[in-house]
Amino acid sequence: MSVIHAPQTADVLARQDPELAEILLAELDRQSTSLQLVAAENFTSPAVLAALGSPLANKYAEGYPGARHHGGCEIVDVAERLAVDRAKSLFGAEHANVQSHSGSSAVLAAYAALLRPGDTVLALGLPYGGHLTHGSPANFSGRWFDFVGYGVDAETGLIDHDQVRTLALNHRPKAIVCGSIAYPRHIDYAFFREVADEVGAYLIADAAHPIGLVAGGAAPSPVPYADVVCATTHKVLRGPRGGMLLCGSELAERVDRAVFPFTQGGAQMHTIAAKAVAFGEAATPAFAVYAHQVVANARVLAAGLAGQGLVVTTGGTDTHLVTADPAPLGVDGRTARGRLAAAGIVLDCCALPHADSRGLRLGTAAVTTQGMGEPEMVRIAALLAGVVRGEVESARAREEVRDLLGGFPPYPA
Ligand SMILES: *Cc1c(COP(=O)(O)O)cnc(C)c1O
Repeated sequence: MSVIHAPQTADVLARQDPELAEILLAELDRQSTSLQLVAAENFTSPAVLAALGSPLANKYAEGYPGARHHGGCEIVDVAERLAVDRAKSLFGAEHANVQSHSGSSAVLAAYAALLRPGDTVLALGLPYGGHLTHGSPANFSGRWFDFVGYGVDAETGLIDHDQVRTLALNHRPKAIVCGSIAYPRHIDYAFFREVADEVGAYLIADAAHPIGLVAGGAAPSPVPYADVVCATTHKVLRGPRGGMLLCGSELAERVDRAVFPFTQGGAQMHTIAAKAVAFGEAATPAFAVYAHQVVANARVLAAGLAGQGLVVTTGGTDTHLVTADPAPLGVDGRTARGRLAAAGIVLDCCALPHADSRGLRLGTAAVTTQGMGEPEMVRIAALLAGVVRGEVESARAREEVRDLLGGFPPYPA
């Protein structure tokens, strides 16, 4: 088997470091022979992988194009300008920073640009789908800022807008954060803008998950509403692992300084080149078709799981993301995830709003990249429920997974 992106690289690796080459091929095999339903994952294109494995990895480039602290940056400057221009045009933003090493680094930079330690920040509480960077005591955010958490309605699972407004009026936060690791519905950015304006707060949209859907026109854009948008480039957007920030011209300099030199050193030019490739791909009509198919698939998957007796949070989804409680099938999320893993179905556990036990979080970005559509989602929902119930034993489930994946290799030879 050869490695998808650069056969010579694989050959070199196999000759020079067979031990590592074997690990790489084993992971490729794992990705191709099990069902990838981790909501934050995707399959990057061979072109993105090629940029990641390119000699741009050798270049030190502290600073920004035209103002670097190292010599020899004239070529990588072109790559970064291309990535920035493509991001601006893809999202209709006045300014883009593409240097953040990850989604978390992008959030850190947004806080660094707008806040001082000790400031009050209003964000979705962690039990309801807030990210670690939204005030977890285990994260810098919870240590350096005074976070107040809003929640979701116990009945509907939808963000409690009344509570958001009340908390904002009572606590007068310096910033309001909207965005989540698990919320399956569209976020009403206009509402958050209105509340932020009422209390004189900045609005930060952490669109790590939906930004790929935004690129494909399948979800509303936070760009016209938020002061700063933070995002990842590796989820639905299907680029390399990394982060980015979008903002208006008036905050451009503050955001750039918050990334470098405040929170990061040299930019990773191979990753930035790969981001440029991904933005180029995301601007094509084919990507818009993909993004809409991701949502259509998630809706069918959610309906299928509900039909099998799982309790689907908010009753469905607007995005790529579905969270569900398997309790009615007799097991909690952790046990369910274990049974599914043994069957070759890979997904996450997550906290469920207003529930004691954990649930399942899954997404359709990766399987849709593989070319799967609604009929496959119907099959996946039935198989998943059968495995969780303990009705389909893992050997038989693995066979069905292999059969399902047969027509959809992530990297066709
Ligand atoms: C994924 C995610 C992040 C963090 O991204 P990393 O690249 O893992 O650091 C931040 N915020 C939200 C809402 C996310 O979903």
